[in-house]
Amino acid sequence: MAEYDVDLFVIGAGSGGVRAARVAGEHGAKVMIAEEYRVGGTCVIRGCIPKKLLVYASRFRHEFEDAAGFGWTIENARFDWPTLIANKDKEIARLEAAYRRTLTMAGAEIVESRAIVEDPHTVRIMKTGARIRAAHLLVATGGHPLKPVIPGRDHAITSNEAFHLPELPKRIVIQGGGYVAVEFACVFEGLGSEVTLVHRGDEILRGFDDEVRQHVRAEMEGRGIRVLLNHTVVEIDRNGRACRALLSDGASIDAEEIMRATGRRPNTANIGLEAVGVACDAHGAVVVDASSRSSVPSIYAIGDVTNRLALTPVAIREGHAFADSVFGDRPWTLDHDNVPTAVFSEPEIGVVGITEAKARERGLSIDVFRRNFRPLKATLSGRKTHVLMKLVVDKTSDRVLGVHIVGEAASEMIQLAAIAVKMGVRKTDFDATVALHPTSAEELVTMRHGS
Ligand code: NDP
Repeated sequence: MAEYDVDLFVIGAGSGGVRAARVAGEHGAKVMIAEEYRVGGTCVIRGCIPKKLLVYASRFRHEFEDAAGFGWTIENARFDWPTLIANKDKEIARLEAAYRRTLTMAGAEIVESRAIVEDPHTVRIMKTGARIRAAHLLVATGGHPLKPVIPGRDHAITSNEAFHLPELPKRIVIQGGGYVAVEFACVFEGLGSEVTLVHRGDEILRGFDDEVRQHVRAEMEGRGIRVLLNHTVVEIDRNGRACRALLSDGASIDAEEIMRATGRRPNTANIGLEAVGVACDAHGAVVVDASSRSSVPSIYAIGDVTNRLALTPVAIREGHAFADSVFGDRPWTLDHDNVPTAVFSEPEIGVVGITEAKARERGLSIDVFRRNFRPLKATLSGRKTHVLMKLVVDKTSDRVLGVHIVGEAASEMIQLAAIAVKMGVRKTDFDATVALHPTSAEELVTMRHGS
């Protein structure tokens, strides 16, 4: 009898787990993958994809407003939340089916159950009680929204529930100042809700460039989002459809929904990891080395459960590298430097590389180039909006260390800028590139000292 039932057992069929299972299968490994909810994970089912669909929906309102200055009259524009949610759900179901097909075609067996690690090579399938022996285990269980304990915390929703609300809240309070809070604040504002963002810090989006943070907040406020800094929600009451958020300064806000976007935590509880000696950090994230191996040699972990960079493309690459290295005889590791990121706020943020503050903290001698301008479209639309672009350049090497953009299509621009930054682009290369006129992106190659 073979020592193991499978070569690889993956726990969690999100973006990272599915990629690892597929690639391992294509390398000839016998693979099983367990998922207790829906195939696709956070990104496909209740994250990036449904969020971006809501973002698209929310932006039509501003487009309709902007259209007037270009001669358009749009009458009777009406938004219907149930239609959006139903269409979004249809697309998510299609994607889930595509993910399942990908796995099946790679020969991976999908097990629809929670799975628990029993020893370094054994997993128990909770639905059937079956025990599977695997040469390698991959933990790809992702994360979940953190809901700090306060009285009435169960009355609040998180991003998970925001995708399934029966109706669009007339008023919503969102707690937090990170990616999720900022994106959902902009989504709900665009769809027509009255939005209050309550954040404990003195500026939103900690970790982003300081000018970017201020710029985006000012733009959000300009669109009508009320931002309360240095405040927390200390208690939540609900009476039918009516909620009340009590704030740290004694004030209260009435709304139909209160959403908490106070960060995420890795899903490592109750899956047997402690018992087999897999080391986790203070936040519960699996501690791994550069090859995604945990403290137990047969157990690997990728994606949000490791809390390295909680981004889908990073989880996918980590899963791919793991499968190539362990089953394809092609070892490689992911370089986590200069990973581009975007916040799909209104306007968007696109970032690659380090902030001005981080460069100074590292003692680097830097030049900072910035542009803050009114985009051409705003001349006729009359919208009060500005684009911000910023380059952080190392004075000694002339290398571009950071590119920061706030404005329409910043996410699309930053993906391309990231190629250059990853290649070690110098400011003189930006200068040598001819502008493409008239665009916003051309400002990136026309920034000079004093201009
Ligand atoms: P973030 O870590 O980005 O933000 C959490 C926010 O909650 C911070 O503003 C934090 O404040 C605040 N917070 C944390 N704990 C408390 C508390 N006890 N009381 C009050 N406020 C609190 O988490 P998100 O959930 O927004 O996003 C998680 C990750 O998911 C992101 O880091 C990102 O990697 C990924 N993501 C990426 C997206 C994209 O690529 N567009 C979109 C959404 C998520 P403080 O700053 O003071 O700590």
